[in-house]
Amino acid sequence: MFPAQQSRRASTVLATAGLAFASVLVPAAAATAAPAATACDSRTNNTYDKVLGCVTVDGVLEHEEAFQAIADANGGNRAAGTTGYTASVDYVVETLEAAGWSVELDEFPFTFVPPPLLEQLMPTQATYSTGVFTGTGYGEVTGNVIPVDIVLAPPRDPVTSGCEASDFVGLDFSGTADIALIQRGTCEFGVKAINAQTAGAEAVIIFNQGNTELRSGLVTGTLFGINQTPLSIPVVGASFADGEALAAAGSTARVRVDLPESRPQVNVIAELAGRTDGNVVMAGAHLDSVQAGPGINDNGSGSSALLEVAQQIAKVKPENTLRFAWWGAEESGLLGSRAYVAGLDQAGLDEIALYLNFDMVASPNYIFMVYDGDESGFPAPVVVPEGSVQIEDFFESFYTSRGIPYDDAEFSGRSDYQAFIQNGIPAGGLFTGAEVVKSPEQAAIWGGTAGQQYDPCYHLACDTIDNISLEALDVNTDAIAAAVLTYAYSTETVNGVVGQQVPGNFVLPAPAGPQGTTGSGGGDEVDGVE
Ligand SMILES: [Zn+2]
Repeated sequence: MFPAQQSRRASTVLATAGLAFASVLVPAAAATAAPAATACDSRTNNTYDKVLGCVTVDGVLEHEEAFQAIADANGGNRAAGTTGYTASVDYVVETLEAAGWSVELDEFPFTFVPPPLLEQLMPTQATYSTGVFTGTGYGEVTGNVIPVDIVLAPPRDPVTSGCEASDFVGLDFSGTADIALIQRGTCEFGVKAINAQTAGAEAVIIFNQGNTELRSGLVTGTLFGINQTPLSIPVVGASFADGEALAAAGSTARVRVDLPESRPQVNVIAELAGRTDGNVVMAGAHLDSVQAGPGINDNGSGSSALLEVAQQIAKVKPENTLRFAWWGAEESGLLGSRAYVAGLDQAGLDEIALYLNFDMVASPNYIFMVYDGDESGFPAPVVVPEGSVQIEDFFESFYTSRGIPYDDAEFSGRSDYQAFIQNGIPAGGLFTGAEVVKSPEQAAIWGGTAGQQYDPCYHLACDTIDNISLEALDVNTDAIAAAVLTYAYSTETVNGVVGQQVPGNFVLPAPAGPQGTTGSGGGDEVDGVE
């Protein structure tokens, strides 16, 4: 069904992104019609022309569709600790083994925090987005919502809701399922929650103050500070608007915070053995999504592109062993990649020649970025290992060979390259942007929409199959294939280990130079990961 729609979509994307690209996007190799899929599956794609001819955006989309279907069948996401992630692992393993890779599952500990629930039952039925406060208690409470000294009328400042024990006087918390509705403002969240618990509440909802734009969205935080004791009742957050709805007369609600539980996760580690030992080329992409959505750009795009390259390169006998990784629990703090690297002894670290990272390579409002090995755009917060500059140069040369402008992406520590560079392993990779807003200057260079995030659906439910740029995915999958083939034959430019020349002649031009438009980093914020 989708391919037809897909071809229509492809044409639209080209139109919107400015015709300037059209002529240079098509790699010389593909000038001749792409060989039939069957031919590709059985062919040894050991030249650039061959591998770029067989790596197609259709092939990548096949995997993206599979991830979308997995999310659809598993509560809308593929987050760590969920059945959506497990099914994603199964899909990747099956695909790799069918292509002839040897696959291992690398287990690491993980604590799954079930998403909390905040549901209004009366006078209106609604489920609100919520989050837990650090230090919360656990349990499920269904009962009356009792507003505590809240201020709904503007300017809503000051608000001292729940700051004094006297706020609870005259309110009936004698029942067994009373939910205190408290508004942000003036005193610490912990003080408010402890006062409510002391007054007899069985659960607490803290909603945002609503006095400014920035203090209106969903609020969560910590209950520690003046208060040093974890609560024994569930405490969840809400936006001002949802708090206002919950304050309606006769309001009842359900609040649920489940105990975190241990759910060990796995990284998928796949190898294609090389002629030599001890000079392993690694490439990785995180396979998990956030709990809010299916993660088709973040990071179905990197996972799918790497899977397509793995399929098309599977018959090559590389000089250097190729080791690809699909990481788990990246969204929870790079947990999978950190555990993997921490599990390597010195010999295991020393045999890794380099690491390539692909996290969000098809943002709908993309700009093309390369991790900034030479720190020309961003001084990195950690030491960037020698050799990383040469990896940056490779990708920059690749874009230059296609006439595509590119820019620097910060080694901000927000994706799975971090544990590698912290252990002295040269790294690099590609990124097309997340929550940062595209500037008019960038829109003039890369097309798309100024004033809009590179990925408007970053970490949201709308990060679906409709949230990817086929153009960016096509170009970046080619870049990944070219890089992997290059280093499969030789990493000499990166670590001095002499290798072989890739068969065929493929000369990359010198990098044209970054555009210099990425100011404060292309990285993400909030919980510190991409
Ligand atoms: Zn990501």
